Amino acid sequence: MTGKKLIHGYLDRLRENLETLDEQIVYARKMSKPKGKGDKSATLQWAKTLRDLVELRNTTLLNIKTHLLGRDETGSPNEPSDIWDGNDEVEFERHLRDQLRPWTLDRLKLECEDCGKVSEEVSTRHFPHEYEADEYFDLCGRCYEKRTTKDTDEPEEGSEASDPVSVLKEFADTQGKRNVSSTMSKAVTDTIRNTIKVIALDERSSAEKVKMLEDFKAKVSRTAGGQGSGEILESGLALLDKEIERLQREAEPRKSQDADGKPAT
Ligand SMILES: [Zn+2]
Repeated sequence: MTGKKLIHGYLDRLRENLETLDEQIVYARKMSKPKGKGDKSATLQWAKTLRDLVELRNTTLLNIKTHLLGRDETGSPNEPSDIWDGNDEVEFERHLRDQLRPWTLDRLKLECEDCGKVSEEVSTRHFPHEYEADEYFDLCGRCYEKRTTKDTDEPEEGSEASDPVSVLKEFADTQGKRNVSSTMSKAVTDTIRNTIKVIALDERSSAEKVKMLEDFKAKVSRTAGGQGSGEILESGLALLDKEIERLQREAEPRKSQDADGKPAT
């Protein structure tokens, strides 16, 4: 024994025991060998000690094995073949070697699966799913929060398509600070396109839709306009104008139909 090794964990204590036992066994074996005439009882005593030591060594080995392998529901130790596929012996030895490394506090640290941080702050988090198998991930607090808020945000993100003001606000906020990124301008155009789509699918009359679009256009100009947002917004507004015109055309014949129909009934 070097004496420098850290002895902490259960397995390290067992290994320590094993090493001590080995030394004692060597000594007891030497002492139990008959020498001369007078010390027969002492030799016998050493033989008994040797037997006990070997028994203790076996028990210690069994304890190590049991600890490593765990137990099944019946309480009996699992054999390696139940746990490892393929080359059981190699896998078992690898695991054993890994377990017999000197135990340090680093062993309490897990690696975050998202950001790779190795810390005691990382723990296994449970993600229950309604229709699929639950998932478990080792995550730090921040990444866990990110994942959970992202999960609850998803419906909000969906509704953003029909309520695009927040996207436009974000767009307006980026104005002046730095150049509008192409993704941001794409987001604005997409938002306007989505709104047009959503309103087109609405069951209201074309005339009402025209009003909705005009309200939306006013909101867009108010929220994102005015700060030289320029071409990006212009193309978006042009899309809106085109849709408004289309709906107005659609609304007109219906208006006259209503006008024709109403007096008749
Ligand atoms: Zn993380």
